[in-house]
Amino acid sequence: MAGERRVGVIGAGMVGVCAASYLQRDGHSVFLLDPGNPGEGASFGNAGCFNGSSVTPMAMPGVIRNVPKWLMDPLGPLSLRWSYLPRLLPYLYRFWRAGTAARVHAQAAALRPLVGPTLAMLRPLVEAAGAEALVHQRGHLYVYRSAEALAKDGLAWELRRENGVVVDEFDADGLRQLEPTLSRDYVCGLLVRENGHTDNPLGLVTRLVEHFRQRGGEFIHARATGFRLDGRRLRAIVTDAGEFPADAAIVCAGARSKPLAASLGDRVPLETERGYHLMISDPETMPRIPIADADGKFVATPMESGLRFAGTVELAGLAAPPDWRRAHMLLEQGRRMLPGLAATHGEERISVWMGHRPSLPDSLPVLGPAASSPDIIYAFGHGHVGMTAAPMTGKVVADLVSGRTAPIDIAPFAAARFR
Ligand SMILES: Cc1cc2nc3c(=O)[nH]c(=O)nc-3n(C[C@H](O)[C@H](O)[C@H](O)COP(=O)(O)OP(=O)(O)OC[C@H]3O[C@@H](n4cnc5c(N)ncnc54)[C@H](O)[C@@H]3O)c2cc1C
Repeated sequence: MAGERRVGVIGAGMVGVCAASYLQRDGHSVFLLDPGNPGEGASFGNAGCFNGSSVTPMAMPGVIRNVPKWLMDPLGPLSLRWSYLPRLLPYLYRFWRAGTAARVHAQAAALRPLVGPTLAMLRPLVEAAGAEALVHQRGHLYVYRSAEALAKDGLAWELRRENGVVVDEFDADGLRQLEPTLSRDYVCGLLVRENGHTDNPLGLVTRLVEHFRQRGGEFIHARATGFRLDGRRLRAIVTDAGEFPADAAIVCAGARSKPLAASLGDRVPLETERGYHLMISDPETMPRIPIADADGKFVATPMESGLRFAGTVELAGLAAPPDWRRAHMLLEQGRRMLPGLAATHGEERISVWMGHRPSLPDSLPVLGPAASSPDIIYAFGHGHVGMTAAPMTGKVVADLVSGRTAPIDIAPFAAARFR
């Protein structure tokens, strides 16, 4: 094992804090850099699910055929800012290329070791930080309104099962008993018991960062802008608040990682899939576990502070202002899912949020060393599964910095796959 190193972690989202925590446990001197507060990026408002079963890529065979229908449906799961389309075309081309039957099997097999052990890898961090009460393992329920809709998802379930995910199926009556809050429109459901969730994603990141600081880790308000290298060796991270000497750096700036990788000569087609949530405080009804409406592609999660509906994909880049209709549409869908909710809610009980999923077209992250320096490790682009993948990502990063072999195969996550 390499000796103690001074390591700068760029970005204090769930990925950054898991990386910082695992690095600290290896005895390194670690600082976290972020221009904002920890956990206020995509890690703030997600659905909170630690779904080890999430091995299905976004680009599935035939998914492109659904796009026109989704784009025309105002309640559809996908929207696009047409002015952004020209910039998006290279990403969409790669997305389309990624969605072959052969490639999705390979992508799912690559993802399973990264996401499957999520709760096992999170547990030591959560226990050390005294945050056990924020993480639950009660399973995740996927519900369908028709047998045809379930059949359309056949490949997704095949990918989960062939990667060792155990699934319990429920008919309409079984669903009623399992989750009495659900609409009777749902005729079947699949429960994945290995999955877990947090009922406070921001609270979890915050608690992990507090613990990191209590153990001597530093949190520095600064935006990384580049690196100072001496040949292939890292000397310092360059920021808008000056240079910070470092022997190693981890790039986990979420959707904003692309220019940092580009400054090192690695061109990666990182995009943002913008997602929304809508929350109802003090809801009239609350499911016991997270429930995904497979057609609507949104999740209802019972949170500490209320009921959260999260989901949708909006392709509009990093700069465009939010389109809050995308969040309010989730309320309409949520009321259909959980008919016990009131038909109207006062504005004071509703809150909305938009966040930037950091996404690559093949639904795999970039995880591994930069081409120009072994001291700089990329750990970004986890798309829809960043909460879930963060604990194992943190462990991989710590092993690489400490000179050990990564515990899982990271070859499919190399930045070089896009060359
Ligand atoms: C609606 C929605 C629902 C979701 N639901 C789930 C779910 O249930 N389960 C799941 O696993 N995933 C889910 N996700 C995805 C998940 O939220 C993300 O993949 C994950 O949060 C990404 O974490 P991150 O640490 O990479 O990025 P972020 O949380 O975005 O953190 C990146 C940090 O980097 C900082 N930063 C940016 N630029 C710089 C810079 N130059 N220098 C320093 N710092 C910088 C930012 O300020 C930010 O704090 C969901 C996402 C959305 C939008």
